Amino acid sequence: VHIAPIFVSLAFKTSQKHNAFMELRIKDIISFLESFAPLYLQEDYDNCGLQTGDPTQLVSGVLVTLDVTEEVIGEAIDRDCSLIVAHHPVIFKPLKRLTGATLAERCLLKAIKNNIAIYVIHTNIDNAWQGLNFSLAQKLGLQQVQILRPEKGKLNKLVTFCPLDCAEKVREALFHAGAGHIGNYDSCSFNITGNGTFRALEGADPYVGNLHELHTENEVRIEVMVPAGVMSQVVQAMFQAHPYEEVAYDIYPLNNVNPYSGSGAYGLLDAPLDAKTFLDELKDALGSPGLRYSGPEGHLIQRVGVCGGSGSFLIDQAILYNLDVLVTADIKYHQFWEASEHLLLVDAGHYETEILVTSLISDLIQKKFPNFACRITSCNTNPVKYL
Ligand SMILES: [Zn+2]
Repeated sequence: VHIAPIFVSLAFKTSQKHNAFMELRIKDIISFLESFAPLYLQEDYDNCGLQTGDPTQLVSGVLVTLDVTEEVIGEAIDRDCSLIVAHHPVIFKPLKRLTGATLAERCLLKAIKNNIAIYVIHTNIDNAWQGLNFSLAQKLGLQQVQILRPEKGKLNKLVTFCPLDCAEKVREALFHAGAGHIGNYDSCSFNITGNGTFRALEGADPYVGNLHELHTENEVRIEVMVPAGVMSQVVQAMFQAHPYEEVAYDIYPLNNVNPYSGSGAYGLLDAPLDAKTFLDELKDALGSPGLRYSGPEGHLIQRVGVCGGSGSFLIDQAILYNLDVLVTADIKYHQFWEASEHLLLVDAGHYETEILVTSLISDLIQKKFPNFACRITSCNTNPVKYL
């Protein structure tokens, strides 16, 4: 009599855990990754998101990679990983045919034939708070890390007015849809009460007040910050939660920068280093076979900017912020010249400055789904060879 219930409860717990493992679907992993690096953070030219596969399909395992190659897909098949999470898109330009004539087409064909889904997390994780550039900054031992070029013009203020007894419901709906999130705080709003007036005309079905009578209602004015990328879903949620037939609301574009998303990162070394020592340590930390650089070698280095991959668009910002060095990749000859009198400009390799993203993604997934198989590819996908 006493044993049976214990046995049942243990069996129940085990099967629950087992089910949680078995029933992880592609869309679960995507929605988790996009809570960290929302799609609206991607650059206009980019193509992040699911590129092949059915989001409702169960995932047997995840393989994380910087680039998708045929070899990587082969590894996913061998290691029973039905989802590849890649940094660089396979489909970047629109495809006009799928014949296997290009590497991208061959990868797509191989993935589809073998039922392997490919999800791309590219400039959205570059631009995310604690994203790729924070990993790079951490690898170099930087402190007090901030975004190097914060996003501007992508925040809005949403204001709505609702009866006192509905304010909490409306606020909750706004927060749940993505409003009122500032840095390490969520549920941020400002609220003030006042009188709203209206007269319901023929055809109206007012929540309070009577037809043809001027009505005064004690209302709350709710103000929240909303990133432009989630504005339509927030407004939709507001309409659903708000009791009024005609919802009064205002959307104001803000000129605020958003310090919690944007390009590159910068921070401080614990103690200044001479340029030579800094370059040696950088080369070791990133495992770069060689560094290309220009600029003053006699200066001390403490204020360090980083941008994984092609970050030469941040040279001016690095100079503006008075950084001692900018570490990035894909720098052109004349850019080395132009920067050389202002700061140390280092090209440490595209692959070498971005490969950290694979451990970042894998760590995030493992932390969220601890019993789930998530691996980093064993393929070196760097197309650049050094002699
Ligand atoms: Zn890249």
